[in-house]
Amino acid sequence: MKVIHRVSISKSQDKKVLKKLAKLGIDPFAEGGRVFSNMRYFDISEDEPVWPQVSKIIEKSKILDIPRAEFKSEEILSSEWVRIYPNYFVGEDYSFPEPYLDDSWKKLSFDYKNECPKCGIGLHQKAPIHLKGEPNMKNNDFMGIFWTYDIFARNEVFEVLLKKGITGFEPYPAIHYERKEPLTTIKQLKVTSELVPGIIDDNLTRGSHSCGHIKYLGLTRGMYKFSRNIFKDMPDFVKTSEWFGSGHLAIQSILASLKFVRLYYEKNWKGLSFAPIQLV
Ligand SMILES: [Zn+2]
Repeated sequence: MKVIHRVSISKSQDKKVLKKLAKLGIDPFAEGGRVFSNMRYFDISEDEPVWPQVSKIIEKSKILDIPRAEFKSEEILSSEWVRIYPNYFVGEDYSFPEPYLDDSWKKLSFDYKNECPKCGIGLHQKAPIHLKGEPNMKNNDFMGIFWTYDIFARNEVFEVLLKKGITGFEPYPAIHYERKEPLTTIKQLKVTSELVPGIIDDNLTRGSHSCGHIKYLGLTRGMYKFSRNIFKDMPDFVKTSEWFGSGHLAIQSILASLKFVRLYYEKNWKGLSFAPIQLV
């Protein structure tokens, strides 16, 4: 396992930071697609030689740094269940549920009546998600969107999943936000089963919200731990009963069985990351 930091930079606001990074040979604006408006990000691993210096720059400048654990394929394949999350997001606003500038995306696709105003827990999807258009998948097979972290995949992926007997999902349409017609190249991997509560949270940090709900901050080192018995007779994709996220973001994690993970590697698919789970 190694820890990777995704550091986000604004060209107009972080000029001094960019100068310091340039001295270390890092230029987030040199190549790659724009992410959102004038923001860019770069990934840096803690085992890279310049990390100690970059770490100091991040600390001083208070720029956005989201660390995550990255596991080796041997570590992933030796786990019975893994957390899956998208690592490919289409540039610009193609990765946002539409219309994204106000909250109307929420009203279209989500039942938000039970959404806690303080911690964000309780948002449930009730209808297809609207997107800006057919996404440019490049060489990816899966993609994610911001705010909901739902997973989408190419149509061909669904054909393989169904043929191989992978269970626990529905190929769910994504809608063109203007034409109101289903997109023809991708669908949502809508997970249909939810686990009962079973997290072992002695290595997790709870968000501090006055509402009293329990929500966990994402784990950046080590593994999530769950009771083994909650996975008995579950399909290959499940959602956790527990909610995760910082600030107002609240999502239920998507977990997948080793059967899916093996298929993913066999097909050499791209667009997802895996974090092994420890069963206790
Ligand atoms: Zn709450």
